[in-house]
Amino acid sequence: MLTSYLQAMSLIVVKAGGRALEQNIDNILKSIASRVCRGLKIIFVHGGGDVVTRYEELIGVKPRFVVSPQGIRSRYTDERELEVYVMVMAGKINKEIVAKLNRLGVKAIGLTGADAGFIKAERKKKIIILDENNRRKIIPGGYTGMIKEVEAELLTVLINQGYLPVIAPIAYGEEGELLNVDADQAAAKIAESIRAEKLLILTDVEGVLIEDKLAKRIRVDEVGMLESKIGFGMNRKVLMCTRVLQSGVKESIISSGLIEDPLKALEEDIGTKITLQL
Ligand code: ADP
Ligand code: MG
Repeated sequence: MLTSYLQAMSLIVVKAGGRALEQNIDNILKSIASRVCRGLKIIFVHGGGDVVTRYEELIGVKPRFVVSPQGIRSRYTDERELEVYVMVMAGKINKEIVAKLNRLGVKAIGLTGADAGFIKAERKKKIIILDENNRRKIIPGGYTGMIKEVEAELLTVLINQGYLPVIAPIAYGEEGELLNVDADQAAAKIAESIRAEKLLILTDVEGVLIEDKLAKRIRVDEVGMLESKIGFGMNRKVLMCTRVLQSGVKESIISSGLIEDPLKALEEDIGTKITLQL
Protein backbone atom coordinates (compact mmCIF):
# COMPACT_ATOMS: atom_id res chain seq x y z
CA MET A 1 0.00 0.00 0.00
CA LEU A 2 2.73 2.44 1.00
CA THR A 3 4.83 1.44 -1.98
CA SER A 4 2.03 1.83 -4.49
CA TYR A 5 1.25 5.27 -3.06
CA LEU A 6 4.87 6.25 -3.53
CA GLN A 7 4.95 4.97 -7.06
CA ALA A 8 2.03 7.18 -7.92
CA MET A 9 4.19 10.22 -7.15
CA SER A 10 7.45 11.05 -8.83
CA LEU A 11 10.25 9.88 -6.61
CA ILE A 12 13.78 10.74 -7.62
CA VAL A 13 17.07 9.69 -6.07
CA VAL A 14 19.66 12.44 -6.53
CA LYS A 15 23.32 11.84 -5.80
CA ALA A 16 25.95 14.56 -5.79
CA GLY A 17 29.68 13.92 -5.65
CA GLY A 18 31.97 15.67 -3.22
CA ARG A 19 33.69 17.91 -5.75
CA ALA A 20 30.42 19.21 -7.20
CA LEU A 21 29.16 19.85 -3.66
CA GLU A 22 32.31 21.69 -2.64
CA GLN A 23 32.10 24.00 -5.62
CA ASN A 24 28.36 24.47 -5.90
CA ILE A 25 26.58 23.32 -2.74
CA ASP A 26 24.20 26.27 -2.50
CA ASN A 27 22.95 25.94 -6.07
CA ILE A 28 22.59 22.17 -5.79
CA LEU A 29 20.54 22.47 -2.60
CA LYS A 30 18.44 25.35 -3.97
CA SER A 31 17.74 23.28 -7.05
CA ILE A 32 16.59 20.37 -4.86
CA ALA A 33 14.52 22.59 -2.56
CA SER A 34 12.68 24.23 -5.46
CA ARG A 35 11.62 20.81 -6.82
CA VAL A 36 10.53 19.64 -3.37
CA CYS A 37 8.40 22.77 -3.03
CA ARG A 38 6.74 21.80 -6.33
CA GLY A 39 5.82 18.40 -4.91
CA LEU A 40 8.63 16.19 -6.16
CA LYS A 41 9.75 13.53 -3.71
CA ILE A 42 13.53 13.39 -3.42
CA ILE A 43 16.08 11.29 -1.60
CA PHE A 44 19.49 12.91 -1.61
CA VAL A 45 22.72 10.89 -1.37
CA HIS A 46 26.01 12.73 -0.99
CA GLY A 47 29.65 11.84 -1.52
CA GLY A 48 32.60 13.75 -0.11
CA GLY A 49 35.76 11.73 -0.70
CA ASP A 50 37.97 14.76 -1.23
CA VAL A 51 36.90 16.32 2.07
CA VAL A 52 37.67 13.01 3.83
CA THR A 53 41.10 13.04 2.20
CA ARG A 54 41.74 16.58 3.43
CA TYR A 55 40.85 15.72 7.02
CA GLU A 56 42.92 12.54 6.87
CA GLU A 57 45.90 14.61 5.84
CA LEU A 58 45.22 17.07 8.66
CA ILE A 59 45.44 14.34 11.27
CA GLY A 60 48.28 12.51 9.59
CA VAL A 61 46.49 9.53 8.03
CA LYS A 62 47.65 8.86 4.51
CA PRO A 63 44.74 8.21 2.13
CA ARG A 64 45.08 5.14 -0.06
CA PHE A 65 43.26 4.06 -3.18
CA VAL A 66 43.05 0.66 -4.83
CA VAL A 67 41.98 -0.50 -8.28
CA SER A 68 39.96 -3.69 -8.82
CA PRO A 69 40.61 -6.10 -11.71
CA GLN A 70 37.42 -4.63 -13.29
CA GLY A 71 39.13 -1.24 -13.33
CA ILE A 72 37.09 0.36 -10.55
CA ARG A 73 39.07 2.64 -8.23
CA SER A 74 38.07 2.88 -4.55
CA ARG A 75 39.25 4.41 -1.32
CA TYR A 76 40.97 1.87 0.92
CA THR A 77 39.62 2.18 4.45
CA ASP A 78 41.49 0.81 7.45
CA GLU A 79 40.38 1.32 11.07
CA ARG A 80 41.78 4.84 11.45
CA GLU A 81 40.58 5.95 8.06
CA LEU A 82 37.11 4.70 8.91
CA GLU A 83 37.05 7.02 11.94
CA VAL A 84 37.79 10.06 9.79
CA TYR A 85 35.42 8.85 7.08
CA VAL A 86 32.52 8.57 9.53
CA MET A 87 33.28 11.90 11.22
CA VAL A 88 33.40 13.77 7.94
CA MET A 89 30.62 12.01 6.02
CA ALA A 90 28.02 11.52 8.77
CA GLY A 91 29.08 14.63 10.67
CA LYS A 92 30.44 17.60 8.83
CA ILE A 93 29.11 17.07 5.32
CA ASN A 94 25.76 15.47 6.14
CA LYS A 95 24.83 18.02 8.80
CA GLU A 96 25.90 21.00 6.71
CA ILE A 97 23.63 19.82 3.92
CA VAL A 98 20.74 19.18 6.30
CA ALA A 99 21.09 22.60 7.93
CA LYS A 100 21.19 24.38 4.58
CA LEU A 101 18.15 22.49 3.26
CA ASN A 102 16.19 23.25 6.41
CA ARG A 103 17.05 26.92 5.91
CA LEU A 104 15.54 26.62 2.42
CA GLY A 105 12.27 25.43 3.92
CA VAL A 106 12.75 21.71 3.36
CA LYS A 107 12.35 19.26 6.23
CA ALA A 108 15.67 17.51 5.67
CA ILE A 109 16.73 14.65 7.87
CA GLY A 110 20.25 13.24 7.77
CA LEU A 111 20.87 9.50 7.96
CA THR A 112 23.56 6.90 7.54
CA GLY A 113 22.83 3.29 6.67
CA ALA A 114 23.47 2.44 10.32
CA ASP A 115 20.38 4.38 11.40
CA ALA A 116 17.75 1.68 11.98
CA GLY A 117 20.28 -0.49 10.08
CA PHE A 118 18.55 0.45 6.87
CA ILE A 119 21.54 -0.06 4.53
CA LYS A 120 23.07 -3.46 5.17
CA ALA A 121 26.44 -4.27 3.70
CA GLU A 122 28.83 -7.14 3.75
CA ARG A 123 32.36 -6.34 4.77
CA LYS A 124 34.84 -7.56 2.22
CA LYS A 125 37.21 -9.83 4.16
CA LYS A 126 39.67 -9.97 1.30
CA ILE A 127 39.82 -7.95 -1.86
CA ILE A 128 41.64 -8.49 -5.12
CA ILE A 129 43.46 -5.45 -6.39
CA LEU A 130 45.89 -4.69 -9.19
CA ASP A 131 49.38 -3.74 -8.03
CA GLU A 132 51.67 -1.21 -9.77
CA ASN A 133 52.59 -3.85 -12.35
CA ASN A 134 48.95 -4.67 -13.07
CA ARG A 135 49.29 -7.99 -11.29
CA ARG A 136 46.46 -9.31 -9.12
CA LYS A 137 47.09 -9.17 -5.40
CA ILE A 138 44.88 -10.24 -2.48
CA ILE A 139 44.82 -7.89 0.50
CA PRO A 140 42.60 -7.61 3.65
CA GLY A 141 39.36 -5.87 2.76
CA GLY A 142 39.44 -3.20 5.49
CA TYR A 143 36.19 -1.41 6.29
CA THR A 144 34.66 -1.27 2.86
CA GLY A 145 31.24 -2.73 2.31
CA MET A 146 29.29 -4.17 -0.56
CA ILE A 147 25.64 -3.19 -0.15
CA LYS A 148 23.40 -6.23 0.21
CA GLU A 149 20.10 -4.71 1.15
CA VAL A 150 18.37 -1.38 1.53
CA GLU A 151 15.20 -1.46 3.62
CA ALA A 152 12.86 0.94 1.93
CA GLU A 153 10.47 1.17 4.89
CA LEU A 154 12.27 3.90 6.83
CA LEU A 155 12.65 6.06 3.73
CA THR A 156 9.03 5.46 2.75
CA VAL A 157 7.77 6.55 6.16
CA LEU A 158 9.91 9.69 6.12
CA ILE A 159 8.97 10.67 2.58
CA ASN A 160 5.28 10.12 3.23
CA GLN A 161 5.56 12.46 6.21
CA GLY A 162 7.12 15.14 4.03
CA TYR A 163 10.75 14.71 5.05
CA LEU A 164 13.66 14.73 2.64
CA PRO A 165 16.18 12.03 3.59
CA VAL A 166 19.84 13.05 3.15
CA ILE A 167 21.98 9.93 3.12
CA ALA A 168 25.70 9.63 3.90
CA PRO A 169 27.51 6.71 2.21
CA ILE A 170 27.94 4.61 5.34
CA ALA A 171 26.42 1.17 5.78
CA TYR A 172 25.73 -1.16 8.68
CA GLY A 173 27.84 -4.33 8.65
CA GLU A 174 26.91 -7.85 9.67
CA GLU A 175 28.87 -7.53 12.92
CA GLY A 176 27.40 -4.15 13.74
CA GLU A 177 30.33 -2.26 12.29
CA LEU A 178 30.19 0.96 10.29
CA LEU A 179 31.35 0.52 6.71
CA ASN A 180 32.46 2.83 3.96
CA VAL A 181 30.29 2.25 0.92
CA ASP A 182 30.52 3.91 -2.42
CA ALA A 183 28.00 6.76 -2.75
CA ASP A 184 27.10 5.90 -6.36
CA GLN A 185 26.37 2.34 -5.25
CA ALA A 186 24.33 3.59 -2.28
CA ALA A 187 22.25 5.84 -4.53
CA ALA A 188 21.66 3.03 -7.00
CA LYS A 189 20.64 0.50 -4.34
CA ILE A 190 18.30 3.02 -2.73
CA ALA A 191 16.73 3.82 -6.11
CA GLU A 192 16.18 0.12 -6.77
CA SER A 193 14.74 -0.70 -3.37
CA ILE A 194 12.36 2.23 -3.21
CA ARG A 195 11.40 1.84 -6.88
CA ALA A 196 12.38 5.38 -7.75
CA GLU A 197 11.31 6.69 -11.11
CA LYS A 198 14.71 8.19 -11.87
CA LEU A 199 18.28 8.21 -10.63
CA LEU A 200 20.14 11.48 -11.16
CA ILE A 201 23.89 11.49 -10.56
CA LEU A 202 25.43 14.97 -10.36
CA THR A 203 29.17 15.25 -10.80
CA ASP A 204 31.89 17.69 -11.85
CA VAL A 205 31.64 17.09 -15.61
CA GLU A 206 28.69 17.65 -17.95
CA GLY A 207 28.04 13.92 -18.41
CA VAL A 208 29.71 10.92 -20.02
CA LEU A 209 32.32 12.07 -22.51
CA ILE A 210 33.23 9.75 -25.34
CA GLU A 211 36.33 10.98 -27.14
CA ASP A 212 35.79 14.42 -25.54
CA LYS A 213 32.21 14.71 -26.78
CA LEU A 214 29.17 14.53 -24.54
CA ALA A 215 27.14 11.36 -25.11
CA LYS A 216 23.55 12.59 -24.77
CA ARG A 217 22.07 9.12 -24.78
CA ILE A 218 23.57 5.75 -24.03
CA ARG A 219 21.53 2.60 -24.44
CA VAL A 220 22.23 -0.18 -21.97
CA ASP A 221 23.30 -2.51 -24.78
CA GLU A 222 25.92 0.03 -25.91
CA VAL A 223 27.65 0.19 -22.54
CA GLY A 224 29.93 -2.81 -23.13
CA MET A 225 31.21 -1.29 -26.35
CA LEU A 226 31.97 2.08 -24.72
CA GLU A 227 33.57 0.74 -21.55
CA SER A 228 37.15 1.14 -22.73
CA LYS A 229 36.49 4.86 -23.41
CA ILE A 230 35.26 5.62 -19.89
CA GLY A 231 37.75 6.08 -17.06
CA PHE A 232 37.80 5.99 -13.25
CA GLY A 233 34.91 7.62 -11.45
CA MET A 234 32.64 7.73 -14.47
CA ASN A 235 32.87 4.00 -15.21
CA ARG A 236 31.32 3.23 -11.85
CA LYS A 237 28.46 5.65 -12.44
CA VAL A 238 27.67 4.15 -15.82
CA LEU A 239 27.68 0.67 -14.28
CA MET A 240 25.29 1.74 -11.52
CA CYS A 241 23.02 3.58 -13.95
CA THR A 242 22.80 0.46 -16.08
CA ARG A 243 22.00 -1.80 -13.14
CA VAL A 244 19.12 0.30 -11.85
CA LEU A 245 17.40 0.29 -15.23
CA GLN A 246 17.45 -3.47 -15.14
CA SER A 247 15.57 -3.39 -11.85
CA GLY A 248 12.76 -1.09 -12.82
CA VAL A 249 14.04 2.48 -12.53
CA LYS A 250 12.83 4.21 -15.73
CA GLU A 251 15.73 6.51 -16.44
CA SER A 252 19.21 7.26 -15.14
CA ILE A 253 20.93 10.54 -15.80
CA ILE A 254 24.52 11.65 -15.26
CA SER A 255 24.81 15.41 -15.38
CA SER A 256 26.69 18.44 -14.14
CA GLY A 257 26.43 19.49 -10.52
CA LEU A 258 28.33 22.67 -11.31
CA ILE A 259 25.59 24.62 -13.10
CA GLU A 260 23.07 27.03 -11.58
CA ASP A 261 20.10 24.66 -11.58
CA PRO A 262 21.49 21.10 -11.74
CA LEU A 263 18.10 19.39 -11.35
CA LYS A 264 16.91 20.82 -14.63
CA ALA A 265 18.52 17.67 -16.05
CA LEU A 266 15.26 16.00 -14.97
CA GLU A 267 13.27 18.26 -17.26
CA GLU A 268 15.60 19.28 -20.06
CA ASP A 269 17.89 17.57 -22.50
CA ILE A 270 21.21 18.08 -20.75
CA GLY A 271 23.73 15.57 -19.41
CA THR A 272 23.82 11.91 -20.38
CA LYS A 273 20.64 9.83 -20.23
CA ILE A 274 21.11 6.11 -19.92
CA THR A 275 18.09 4.20 -21.11
CA LEU A 276 16.94 0.69 -21.94
CA GLN A 277 15.80 1.89 -25.38
CA LEU A 278 16.45 5.05 -27.34
P1 ADP B 1 32.19 12.15 -8.06
O1 ADP B 1 32.90 12.79 -6.91
O2 ADP B 1 31.11 13.03 -8.61
O3 ADP B 1 31.75 10.75 -7.77
P2 ADP B 1 34.30 11.02 -9.71
O4 ADP B 1 35.64 11.65 -9.73
O5 ADP B 1 34.16 9.74 -8.97
O6 ADP B 1 33.27 12.13 -9.23
O7 ADP B 1 33.80 10.78 -11.22
C1 ADP B 1 33.72 11.84 -12.14
C2 ADP B 1 35.02 11.92 -12.93
O8 ADP B 1 35.11 10.85 -13.86
C3 ADP B 1 35.20 13.14 -13.78
O9 ADP B 1 35.66 14.25 -13.05
C4 ADP B 1 36.21 12.69 -14.81
O10 ADP B 1 37.51 13.09 -14.47
C5 ADP B 1 36.17 11.17 -14.74
N1 ADP B 1 35.96 10.53 -16.03
C6 ADP B 1 36.65 9.45 -16.46
N2 ADP B 1 36.24 9.08 -17.69
C7 ADP B 1 35.26 9.94 -18.05
C8 ADP B 1 34.44 10.06 -19.23
N3 ADP B 1 34.55 9.23 -20.27
N4 ADP B 1 33.53 11.06 -19.26
C9 ADP B 1 33.42 11.92 -18.24
N5 ADP B 1 34.17 11.85 -17.09
C10 ADP B 1 35.08 10.87 -17.01
MG1 MG C 1 33.13 9.08 -7.24
